[in-house]
Amino acid sequence: MANLSRRAFAGILPLGVVGGGLLPLLAPGDAVAAPVAGPVTPLAQIKIGRFTVTALTDGYADMPYTFFPGRSAAQVEQAAVAQKIARPSGVRFVFNQYLIEDGERRILIDTGPAGSIGKTGALPQALAALGVSPDQIDAIIVTHMHQDHMGGLIAGGQTVFPKAELYIDRRDVTHWTDPAKRSTAPDYLQTSFRMATDVVRLYPRLQATDGAREIARGISIVDLTGHTPGHIGVRIADAGQSLIMVSDTVFPVVHPAATDVTFLFEQDRAAAKAMRDRFFASAAAEGILIAATHMPFPGLGRIVSDRGELRWQVADWALQD
Ligand SMILES: [Zn+2]
Repeated sequence: MANLSRRAFAGILPLGVVGGGLLPLLAPGDAVAAPVAGPVTPLAQIKIGRFTVTALTDGYADMPYTFFPGRSAAQVEQAAVAQKIARPSGVRFVFNQYLIEDGERRILIDTGPAGSIGKTGALPQALAALGVSPDQIDAIIVTHMHQDHMGGLIAGGQTVFPKAELYIDRRDVTHWTDPAKRSTAPDYLQTSFRMATDVVRLYPRLQATDGAREIARGISIVDLTGHTPGHIGVRIADAGQSLIMVSDTVFPVVHPAATDVTFLFEQDRAAAKAMRDRFFASAAAEGILIAATHMPFPGLGRIVSDRGELRWQVADWALQD
């Protein structure tokens, strides 16, 4: 089992994940809480062996019920109603990011839409609440080149994380910087194509990776091609504990109950279905702890088989011994 460290817990208590409203934020080591204006920035931490993994969130956006090919809008809304999470504006997607620390390096997974969709742009505040400045991020793994995963890399035409190496799968780098692909892509993907070109230009320390690969001891890229050509996950493993960050393999409301329902942004629906057919079955068999970008914060859970149906079981991440 993954344990929440007591030290980590002491650090997150003031950050408002257990209560609503405006709470004072504590930077690690601060003796006095400094009130911060604006919405609460939630942080949640979990220990995986020697790693501390902190869930951060850039914000949220509601995806219309019409955005889920394979099901009618009425069917998706009905599923949301049954799960007691229906909203007039659609399915609420959170944008979670994950910071991995081992005492030496800080590796961030994804950077959120940064205001390009919905109510987002909170990641810098979340990092600041943790006492981490952008130039302290050593590496960033971008799980795929959709705007809601890489938007925070750039602000005002400038690099946000000047010292970070970037890891992005080569298939996504190739796809999202291809002018021919861009010219035939629908409007709602144009922002991602534009951002991808900017990211490649502004991050000379980009390493295009080829499928599965260990990028640091205990941190491995997992090939989850399907959502995009180079969609990847990240497996964090140490001392018999592990966590797999699966990015957009699991969406709220519709997954993991079915694999034949996809998302509007998935251009190759057969590949997206194949990805989920493979992953959901193996994740349920293994019972592995999962972090998923768009599941309710902190996005930690497991896929469990319940009377022949697969469902999402929120992980008991807090207050563990
Ligand atoms: Zn996404």
